[in-house]
Amino acid sequence: GAKLEEEIIRVQQLLEAAQIEFQLEGDTHLKHAPPLVENVMSMSLKEACTNVVKHSQATVCRIHVQQSKEKTMVAVEDNGTGIAKEKAGTHGHGLQGMRERLEFVNGILEVSSPAGGGTRLYIEVPNIIQ
Ligand code: ATP
Ligand code: MG
Repeated sequence: GAKLEEEIIRVQQLLEAAQIEFQLEGDTHLKHAPPLVENVMSMSLKEACTNVVKHSQATVCRIHVQQSKEKTMVAVEDNGTGIAKEKAGTHGHGLQGMRERLEFVNGILEVSSPAGGGTRLYIEVPNIIQ
């Protein structure tokens, strides 16, 4: 499966090629996540950053990785146009596929619009596979 730290290097290149400033917070080397969880996280991060490049018109994208023994959390935030509410659940597209993969590992996806503008995706997955 794809390692999160390797995917982060790829999305950094993708964002910088699109002239979007890349900011990273947290340790990208996952210590507690099983391979399936890490793989789903990596795929979700890739889709989130592809969306930032394709749709957001942002100038900055910030990735925040947090981990505990119990769960792994990744937030992807941009300062772009923001995501229309009705689009956050569109079927047959990237976000819907992300939700389905996350459900499979008992994870959650929250899409929100921060007060300052832009879009924030928050992903949380337990490190224990049921
Ligand atoms: P696909 O992922 O299948 O290539 P898509 O990117 O259009 O297609 P989704 O990833 O599901 O589909 O996203 C749904 C819609 O939400 C997008 O078409 C876009 O309008 C909006 N969107 C997604 N991410 C962002 C973002 N970071 N900023 C602004 N709009 C966004
Ligand atoms: Mg997409």
